Amino acid sequence: MTMEDVRKRYDELEKKIKETNPTANIERIRSAFELALTAHGDQKRKDGSPYITHPLAAAEIIVEMGLDEDSIIAALLHDCIEDTEVTHEDVARLFGNKIAEIVEGVTKLDLVVNATQEEAQMENLRKMLLAMAKDIRVIMIKMADRLHNMRTMTYQSEAKRRTKALETMQIYAPIAHRLGMQRIKWELEDLSLLYLDPVGYKEIEDGLKKKQEESQKFVDTIQENITKRLNEVGIKSTVYGRVKHIYSIYRKMYTQNKLLDEIMDLFAFRVIVDDIAECYNVLGYIHEMYKPIPGHFKDYIGTPKPNMYQSLHTTVIGSEGIPFEVQIRTWEMHHTAEYGIAAHWKYKAGIQGKTDDEEKFAWIRRLLESQQDSDAQDFFRTLKMDMFADEVFVFTPNADVRSLPAGATPIDFAYSIHSEIGNKMTGAKVNGRIVPFNHVLQNGDIVEIITSNASKGPSRDWLNIVVSSEARNKIRQWFKKERKEENIAHGKLSFDSELKRSGLTLADISKDEFMQPLLKRMNYQTIDDLYAAIGYGGMSAHKVVTRFKEELRQYAKAAQKENAKLNPQVGFVSKTKASKPIHGIVVEGVDNCLVKFAKCCTPVPGDDIAGFITRGYGVSIHRKSCKNYNKTRDENNESVRWINVSWGDTNGELYPTSLEIMCRDRDGLVMDIATVINGLKIKLDAISTRSTNEGRISVYITIQVHSLEELNSAINKIMSVRGVSEIKRNEG
Ligand code: MN
Repeated sequence: MTMEDVRKRYDELEKKIKETNPTANIERIRSAFELALTAHGDQKRKDGSPYITHPLAAAEIIVEMGLDEDSIIAALLHDCIEDTEVTHEDVARLFGNKIAEIVEGVTKLDLVVNATQEEAQMENLRKMLLAMAKDIRVIMIKMADRLHNMRTMTYQSEAKRRTKALETMQIYAPIAHRLGMQRIKWELEDLSLLYLDPVGYKEIEDGLKKKQEESQKFVDTIQENITKRLNEVGIKSTVYGRVKHIYSIYRKMYTQNKLLDEIMDLFAFRVIVDDIAECYNVLGYIHEMYKPIPGHFKDYIGTPKPNMYQSLHTTVIGSEGIPFEVQIRTWEMHHTAEYGIAAHWKYKAGIQGKTDDEEKFAWIRRLLESQQDSDAQDFFRTLKMDMFADEVFVFTPNADVRSLPAGATPIDFAYSIHSEIGNKMTGAKVNGRIVPFNHVLQNGDIVEIITSNASKGPSRDWLNIVVSSEARNKIRQWFKKERKEENIAHGKLSFDSELKRSGLTLADISKDEFMQPLLKRMNYQTIDDLYAAIGYGGMSAHKVVTRFKEELRQYAKAAQKENAKLNPQVGFVSKTKASKPIHGIVVEGVDNCLVKFAKCCTPVPGDDIAGFITRGYGVSIHRKSCKNYNKTRDENNESVRWINVSWGDTNGELYPTSLEIMCRDRDGLVMDIATVINGLKIKLDAISTRSTNEGRISVYITIQVHSLEELNSAINKIMSVRGVSEIKRNEG
């Protein structure tokens, strides 16, 4: 092809644009063509033709789809930034930022597609492509680009043809289907098949050729009969018949294990009319003329397909005994069936002349939302997710696709692969370049984690960098587990020195009846756990020692009082003066009494409470709804032990309390609950689960709150987690 031919071909294109898109700015389109022409210069395609024929052909396809001026310009320039001297800035300066972004988008899509993908990864990859194309026109231009490349693959190497064909079959054809671009989908499928299974393709092609004369006669007859009948009853229609496309026949032969001659419904006819009412009328006449095959009628007008496809489908059988499918639709439906979202793009732009993308997507969204089909719901959800991505899709060096929350960093990525990778991470590369740990990953990035066995493990700062709860939890776990020994040693050291400073000795505090209950109240199993908490910074040694000191003082006092209180002659209630609150509790008539909170019902400030004088450890505080309270308050020998207590000033103290959360089990449930609690900035002390029957599960948590009010609002929040059906407080 000479340059003269190229110019001629461009002039043809311009003529077509003037016809189909009279408001398009031809000057602008022409200068895009001139830029591409100059930029690609002497570059040649594999078949020896000037390179410019490729962008030109892509633009032709875009014009045929009916896309807008910007799309045509972007199609003409689509290989410029990648393959020529022209830069993003050049395109932005000459044609505006939008066009530069679209061209850049098309270029980027090329970089992420990788034919070695496994089937399981395909869906993610397709999603990623859609997500990356913030502007849906990027996808359409990519389709046009791919279609032309597939049409002109003859001169490529065998290996390249197969790779491209596989990619097309696995990625581009399904996307075309999703976006309703049937015509492109078919052509992509047939072209892919040609290179993936040349023998199978040729077999069908030859078989069809052999039957061609016979087929043509059949098609002509049916077409004539239908046209004639519809004319008689005064319906204006366009009828045409065709043999189904090769890949659909191939798939039928393969899935039904049949030979070409055994495939009956090779033919499809289309009747296109002016309005919906006529569609149903035509259906009636068709069923009068030919015998419908039961179970083959589908009303995609009443219930459109998720990709917006609408038509009536019926399969009938004529006097020749050959079944054939008839699709009945209006012209508008026809255009949608051929070009999918592209058709609506044009329609929308034509009606309102809006160029605002948000508006356009919103419109597509509304369209999809209005469809009641559950598939449509799915499609809408996917599309929405794609367009307003809260996910980012990246590659491992092996080209596996990983999905991470938007904003994810290499650390999130590392932990998503394996905790060991995260724990041993010493650096990261994105697209081959070393990046800082807080680098935010973008769709399509190839991420490589550098690990070393000499790594000292994660840094505490990482907790502020990661965005996935998976990474955060794994890092926390590491700090808790891997370094426990070290934490205990560190913790003990600072505890001991703090103890010394306060003038106490270990012997003072390590009496079992003092130490054990206190540890329990502080939610530690053993003294080592306490040391570990101090060691990893979860507790300050100073605070712990202060508390020990205070408790010790009270313990001593209580021990003195205990005898007096249990002596009926002396009596323990004097009801004369207000007492000072201990841990927020005012024990009527008693000062500085040892107070502990019952584990059976874990009261918090605001609860209705009663106090029980224990044998040996001051007053135990129960809720009045506690079973232990209700069981014993009327028993003769126990009732005297119950005394009135009330809430005083709690000084901002925290109170551990336990909940049972009953749920329908699902993946991520516990994580979600923990996340909600974390979001409320409430300290979660313990979480455990027990499966009950039939997919139900109880999650037991212990949290620390300041008040009943805070507890109730936490309960409300947790109730909103999907799957949670009921929340109970422990009541003995
Ligand atoms: Mn290209």
